[in-house]
Formats: sequence, structure tokens, C-alpha cells
Amino acid sequence: MQTYDIVIIGGGPAGLAAAIAAKESGIDRILILERSERAGGILNQCIHNGFGLHTFHEELTGPEYADRFIRQAESLGIECRLRTMAVDIAAGEAAPVHTVTAVSSTDGLVQICARSVILAMGCRERPRGALNIPGFRPAGIFSAGTAQRLVNMDGYMPGREVVILGSGDIGLIMARRMTLEGAKVHAVAEIMPYSGGLKRNIVQCLDDYGIPLLLSHTVTWIHGKDRVEGVTLSQVDENRRPIPGTEQFYPCDTLLLSVGLIPENELSRGMGVTLSPATSGPLVNESLETDIPGVFACGNVLHVHDLVDYVSEEASAAGRHAADYVKHLGDKSAGTPFPMISPASKRRIPSSSERGIPLTAEHGIRYTVPAFIRPERMPSKLTIRFRVTDVYRNCRVCVCFDDIPVKKKARRIVAPGEMEEIRLERELFERHPVPKTIRFSLETQNDEDTQDFKEGR
Ligand SMILES: Cc1cc2nc3c(=O)[nH]c(=O)nc-3n(C[C@H](O)[C@H](O)[C@H](O)COP(=O)(O)OP(=O)(O)OC[C@H]3O[C@@H](n4cnc5c(N)ncnc54)[C@H](O)[C@@H]3O)c2cc1C
Repeated sequence: MQTYDIVIIGGGPAGLAAAIAAKESGIDRILILERSERAGGILNQCIHNGFGLHTFHEELTGPEYADRFIRQAESLGIECRLRTMAVDIAAGEAAPVHTVTAVSSTDGLVQICARSVILAMGCRERPRGALNIPGFRPAGIFSAGTAQRLVNMDGYMPGREVVILGSGDIGLIMARRMTLEGAKVHAVAEIMPYSGGLKRNIVQCLDDYGIPLLLSHTVTWIHGKDRVEGVTLSQVDENRRPIPGTEQFYPCDTLLLSVGLIPENELSRGMGVTLSPATSGPLVNESLETDIPGVFACGNVLHVHDLVDYVSEEASAAGRHAADYVKHLGDKSAGTPFPMISPASKRRIPSSSERGIPLTAEHGIRYTVPAFIRPERMPSKLTIRFRVTDVYRNCRVCVCFDDIPVKKKARRIVAPGEMEEIRLERELFERHPVPKTIRFSLETQNDEDTQDFKEGR
């Protein structure tokens, strides 16, 4: 069996950045497993610009952004096995070594030993089946990402007369892309009273092309038996139930669905990693380590990101932490700072003190990443990423150590479609008693301004 220090599952932007950071931290035996024929992940189909503004201070296309990381990984001599899919990861029992089973058409089924594993499998789109839209099952219904691949990589047009359900970033980008390719996009319908996408994408992809955004609307019927012939859109009430009498028929041959992304977590679940009900990604500590020692997670498999720059930043941190973990395993004299897996039990769940202090998401906050902090292991400043539950204007993000407020950050506007972050300084733990929980909440006001924003005024 081949043995590596770190095996990274997924060669998208997260996997590449993690590998580069681990290599630069002094680890040599690194392997990336990527199931597609090229590295770069979903970026390969994102031929629009707007990538890399934070990382490179340049506006790049998705493939250009990915290419910079691919070249860097190549120049560092990092091994990347393409067309190789990881199908199982068995968490080590007697020793902290995990076994990755992968399959490829050239090597068949292979087993690889890994002292540390970084999960970087990205996410997938929520399908029609998850929505229960009534109607037949005609041709012409695509997820927005599938349509993006067909148009940008395979050279096919999915249709000419289009309605898009869901106003997340991929839906917005595809509204513009289909228009540029000569299709007529009749509307983007969004069930929520606000868009799930970035403001800049609403302006650049819909407003600039005169495409209407119908907030608080959904598809209530798909017409056509062999091919989509149209959809009925209805307005919904505050409980997201269609309002009778508001139905409107939109003739179209194509319905694109952009109704959410779900972390690709079959492997994580299979190996016994505890997942967060809010993100569907692993629960991780300040080192982006899951509750299985030596198994780290980053990128969209951890939580869905809106900007790839944050994916790269987070993944670099995961790579550095995995490298530290591997170095400490080799350093017997220093003792192992991470909990070991007992041969007697199938898997050792760290106790809560080993796990760290839990972060709780309260009023207005949906989740935080990380979910646990071990203060003694955090850097001088730790970035906490989170999403909010609703649109709020003029609010404050509050961090409390139990009931004591230790930090507040004012935000002019926050929305569920945009990931937020706040930095926690280690010195906070020196200045205050160590808390049982670190509570994150929003101080909000639901004023007229907020309502106007939600309703697009
Ligand atoms: C359609 C779309 C449009 C986007 N547009 C923008 C944009 O305009 N600007 C921006 O900043 N961000 C954009 N993003 C977000 C950004 O591209 C993602 O945040 C980023 O690609 C996530 O990186 P990742 O490595 O976590 O996942 P991915 O890019 O999805 O990479 C995951 C990789 O893992 C591989 N993999 C999965 N499972 C296995 C397995 N079992 N074995 C081996 N390999 C596996 C996959 O093949 C894939 O290559 C977009 C995202 C999507 C989905």
C-alpha cells in the first residue's frame, strides 16, 4: 500500500491551495486525488471574470484563477492523480493512519495510507427532486451549473426561451450567459423576499440586461410532456406558500434551477465525521480539523462560499494545520498534542475540553465556521466566517464570552447570500475568563430601510 503524509480529496481551488500551503510548510509526501480529467474544480466552467480580486488584486476568469494554482502546485512537484475518484475513507483505528480507497481507469482500485486527510470535495447543486414542483418530467429542466458546463465547456445551448428559478449567484450568472449566447431570459424567480446572490451580480447580470427579478415568486407548475412548454409562476406569502390568483404563465422551452448548493459530504459521512445541520459540512475547530483527528476540511465541502478568494485563504490554513499535525506525529519526544485513537474503541471522540469551546449561533446568525475553538491553539487573530438568517441594515455583530460582550462590529447591511467574517484576537482570552461558550448574535432593527432593501426598492 502506498503511504503519504497528506492525501487531499479534490483538486479544485481548495485542494490546490491546501496542497501548496502544506508543501510550503515542509511536508513532501502529498497526494491530490481529483476525479475529473483536469484540476481546477468548478472554476473550469466559470469563464466569466470577477475572480481573484482579493487574492491577486486582478480580475481573472475562473480558469485563469485556477491555472495560477495549478502551475504553482506543478512547480512545487505536488503529485495530482487525475481521473481518480476517492470512494471511501476509513478512519485509522490502531494508529492515526487513514486508508483512502480510490478508483481510476488506469490503476483500478487502489488503497492509499494517509497520516492526514484534507477533505476538499466541493459541493453539488440541489436538484429538482428536492423541490417537489408539480408537472411532468419533460426535457429542458437543468440545474444552472449543468447548463453552465454545457454552454461554456461542451458547446451546447440548453434552450432559447428561458426562465430561471433561484437568484443565487450561479442563476444570476447564467441569466447573463444565456442572454449573451442569444437566448431570451424571461425572468428570474426567487421564492425569498431578497436575492440569494451578491449585489454586484444582480446589477451586472440582471439589471444591465433588463432581466426582471421576481422576488417572493416560485414555479407552481411545469407545462409540457416531452419538452418544457412553459412554467406557471406564482407569488408566495411570508410563509412561502403560493397565493391563489397570482398565477402567471411564462412560455419557455427551458427552466434552469439555481436553488442551492449542498456540500459533497458522502465520504465525510461515511468515515464518521460529525456534520453540522446548518451547513451540512463537517464541524471543525480553529484548525479546520474535524472530530476525527488528522482529518481536515476546507472550501465548499466545509460550507458554501460565495467568493473563491476566501476558499483559497481558508484552504491554505487547512494545509498548514495538516502539515503541523503530521510534523507533531513524527515528533515523539514532544508527545502527541492531538488525541490519539484508541485501539479498543472504533473511533475516539474527543472530550469537550479537547474539542474546544463551542461557538453558538444565536439571533440573526445561522452558523459559524469554526464551531469550536481551542484558545491555546489559535493564531493571534482567527477569522470566524458566518452567514446571517435574514437581511438586516445597520446592525452589529456581537461576540459574547458566555454573557459578557467582548467584541462588536457594526455592519451597514448583511444578507444571507453574502458570507460575513469577524476576527477574534487571542488576547481576548487573556483579558477575560475562559468562557463555556462563545456566542455570536446580531443586534438588529427591522426598520423601513431593511424592508425596502428586501423588496428591491
Ligand atoms: C457554478 C458556479 C459559479 C461560480 N461563480 C463564481 C464567481 O463568479 N466568483 C467567485 O469568486 N466564485 C464563484 N463560484 C464559487 C467558487 O468557484 C467556489 O467557491 C470554488 O470553486 C470552491 O472550491 P472547492 O475546491 O471547494 O470546490 P470545487 O471547485 O467544486 O472543487 C472540488 C473538486 O473536488 C473533486 N471531487 C469531488 N469529489 C471527489 C472524489 N470523491 N474524489 C476525487 N475528487 C473529487 C471535484 O471533481 C472538484 O474538482 C462559483 C461556484 C459555482 C458552483
